[in-house]
Amino acid sequence: MKNLLEVNRLQTVFRADQGDVTAVDEVSFQIKLGETIGIVGESGCGKSVTSLSIMRLLGKEGRIQQGEIWFNGANLTELSEADLRKLRGKEIAMIFQEPMTSLNPVFTIGNQLIETIRLHMKLNRKESKAYAIQMLTKVGISRPEAILKEYPHTLSGGMRQRVMIAIALACKPKLLIADEPTTALDVTVQAQILRLMKQLREESGAAIMLITHDLGIVAEMADKVIVMYAGQIVEEADVFSIFEKPLHPYTQGLLQSIPGTENNDNNRLFGIPGSVPSIQRMPQGCRFHSRCEYATEKCIHEQPTLKTIKPNHQVKCWLY
Ligand code: SF4
Ligand code: MG
Repeated sequence: MKNLLEVNRLQTVFRADQGDVTAVDEVSFQIKLGETIGIVGESGCGKSVTSLSIMRLLGKEGRIQQGEIWFNGANLTELSEADLRKLRGKEIAMIFQEPMTSLNPVFTIGNQLIETIRLHMKLNRKESKAYAIQMLTKVGISRPEAILKEYPHTLSGGMRQRVMIAIALACKPKLLIADEPTTALDVTVQAQILRLMKQLREESGAAIMLITHDLGIVAEMADKVIVMYAGQIVEEADVFSIFEKPLHPYTQGLLQSIPGTENNDNNRLFGIPGSVPSIQRMPQGCRFHSRCEYATEKCIHEQPTLKTIKPNHQVKCWLY
């Protein structure tokens, strides 16, 4: 099947006091229609910046320095802001971890939801309202008419996240980017929301790019997994290979950090010693070397390349 999204050698930089810093470095991957790709790694590894680059929502300080992002035949890095705005929300929708930042506090839920629907689905006001109510019901909101009149700050976190998901799914996007979509929510709501995302995929064949540090969610949802460390992809494989035979020492560490698994009797979260290097001071050689128990002299000085070990399994490590 054809790729829906193709990211080729993406490099995203941010302006800082000391000069440019690279947050995403030479990242390439593809997503097909109907496919779910999980992007994992600790905070500060470039997962969110990768997704914001696709949407070109990098703010004043950020820019795409190099690379191409192809979506459904269009190069997003070269599209005009006006054309991109037509894609955002309609063809590519995004769910963020903290919906407060993406819902406008001065407008009611109804205003925002109905407006999005009217704009993208070419429906009149009355039809849009009916569709909005239908969508809110779908995300498990029991009194949709009342919720339409509320302002974002009067709702609970879980409720706001459901509203965001209703907005995101309303326009039947081809690609849904979900950045830690359930992190702030209790397990019941979390399960509901994952179910909704699966439903979207089944009903409309959408592709999902799921950014999370929760490997349990990845195991449940993803077909393919990308592991990011310090702005780079260090391993990419189908979900079975990642869980059965993770190759990169970082991936192995992440898997051992899953609470409640046999490998993790202390219930450690991110049990890998040390922390992700700051993008201001990227180490030479393999970026993981200061935390890696297998590091050799070579690892300290030379950076490994992403190598294909078998079809659909790549790793960036000198051990292979
Ligand atoms: Fe560890 Fe060396 Fe592999 Fe980096 S390249 S992950 S330091 S063994
Ligand atoms: Mg993030």
